[in-house]
Amino acid sequence: MDNPAPPHPPDTRHRLRLAGALELSPSIEKHPVTIHERYGHFINGELVPGQGDESFATVNPATGATLAQVAAAGQADVDAAVAAARKAHDEVWSKLSGLERGKYLFRIARRLQERSREFSVLETIDNGKPIRETRDVDLPLAAAHFFYYAGWADKLSYATRGAPPRSLGVAAQVIPWNFPMLMLAWKIAPALATGNTVVLKPAETTPLSAMLFAELLQEVELPPGVVNIVNGAGATGNLVVSHPGVNKVAFTGSTEVGRAIMRTIAGAGKRATMELGGKGANIIYADAALDQAVEGCVDGIFFNQGHVCCAGSRLLLEESIAEDFIARLKRRVETLRVGDPLDKNTDVGAINSQGQLRTIERYLEIGREEGATVWQGGACEPPGSGYFVRPTILTGVQQSDTVVREEIFGPVLACLTFRTPDEAIAKANDSEYGLACGVWSEKTSKVFRTAHALNCGVVWANGYNLFDPSSPFGGVRHSGFGREGGIAGLWPYLEA
Ligand code: NAP
Ligand code: MG
Repeated sequence: MDNPAPPHPPDTRHRLRLAGALELSPSIEKHPVTIHERYGHFINGELVPGQGDESFATVNPATGATLAQVAAAGQADVDAAVAAARKAHDEVWSKLSGLERGKYLFRIARRLQERSREFSVLETIDNGKPIRETRDVDLPLAAAHFFYYAGWADKLSYATRGAPPRSLGVAAQVIPWNFPMLMLAWKIAPALATGNTVVLKPAETTPLSAMLFAELLQEVELPPGVVNIVNGAGATGNLVVSHPGVNKVAFTGSTEVGRAIMRTIAGAGKRATMELGGKGANIIYADAALDQAVEGCVDGIFFNQGHVCCAGSRLLLEESIAEDFIARLKRRVETLRVGDPLDKNTDVGAINSQGQLRTIERYLEIGREEGATVWQGGACEPPGSGYFVRPTILTGVQQSDTVVREEIFGPVLACLTFRTPDEAIAKANDSEYGLACGVWSEKTSKVFRTAHALNCGVVWANGYNLFDPSSPFGGVRHSGFGREGGIAGLWPYLEA
């Protein structure tokens, strides 16, 4: 009997070829991706080389090997991208019905699902995060975001309470390296659903998945100029957000850069959304299901090497269970495999860049100087090359210590204790950040009382780092303002 045809014939036109596979990582050769030697930008529907001479390398953090050279956009490239986005907004995208815009978003979502393996592998190679996470979390969630906002495109009058929904115009979107595809989806999906057009700048260390996404946009025949992608470092980001042709700025990144952008755009009449840093507290009461809470701590801080803005980087333990809990947590951490991000058994992959590796190591030094006990676990030695940090637990720390106050953005957990719920709440709130926290207790009343008293944008109850496109996400205080996700994610892209 003949074999039945596969549901989706393999796409040879867009299949990437991989050069120098073995040099990059022993396991890359098994995967169907190719990385081009050079990348430019995506402007007005075309992949273009860029008008200047400046370029930079993107590397595979698991080996330190260069993957590709990427053009750095200057003023002329950014001008072209903004002009294309303006024209597309005024002449095409804002004139389409919501139903028609939604159809494009559905197509993007479906194609992302179909090419998800390719995107997952490329993301893992460029970013260093474990393939299990790109495959099971980043890509499914990115597609889910496009599906979710596709559904909103023809229902916007519910978001505007009956007023005619009006787009803002051109959105400048600048994203970080920790979830390149997911952040791209969080930015582009609501902007397009609401009739805006986009100029997006990916992070310098992780441009490749965005460039593959540009190919996908050509494939689904998104009208030219609706999405433009310019590569480059912070200087390019500055050109994008400060461009006079931009109506809205959506930024995800560090609090420091967020502040600089707010100063840059002050008085320019641009709307802004800022998703910034965090120092999340994971509060474990003595009556919690402790083994589940241990898993929640592992998810909270070792998922994505701790490169997570809402990471549960501070553990607040009720004093009576602290010793037992830390012993259980260490036993669990000893089972985590640190290593090749392309190996599907890997739990903790590579640190995204050498710079970030140095930052984490510097924080560990500071922790030692401040008197912390630094414990590092893991089921195996990390590879000799590339950028790796073993999962790390800091005990003997004080609320005033640098490692408790500042965002380390790595697999480093600082453990503190408390005696009463009020003390737990006070310690959790004693931070300049206010992005996310977790509360673990079998008593619902205690969970709700604690959650209401926490000064942050997101609280997870008996779980951590759980995401859904229908849930709004965002911070308060120095963690930023504005929301992404859910109906609230539409408002920052619509005229009030
Ligand atoms: P970052 O240094 O602030 O960079 C973020 C983005 O801004 C990058 O694309 C960066 O380009 C660009 N950039 C740098 N300087 C700029 C400037 N002056 N004007 C415009 N753009 C500029 O942050 P990161 O180190 O990439 O990411 C980590 C930070 O992001 C952490 O603090 C984390 O908490 C935060 N984060 C927050 C959320 C959230 O939703 N709240 C989510 C993820 C991450 P280059 O990469 O080329 O420098
Ligand atoms: Mg890279």
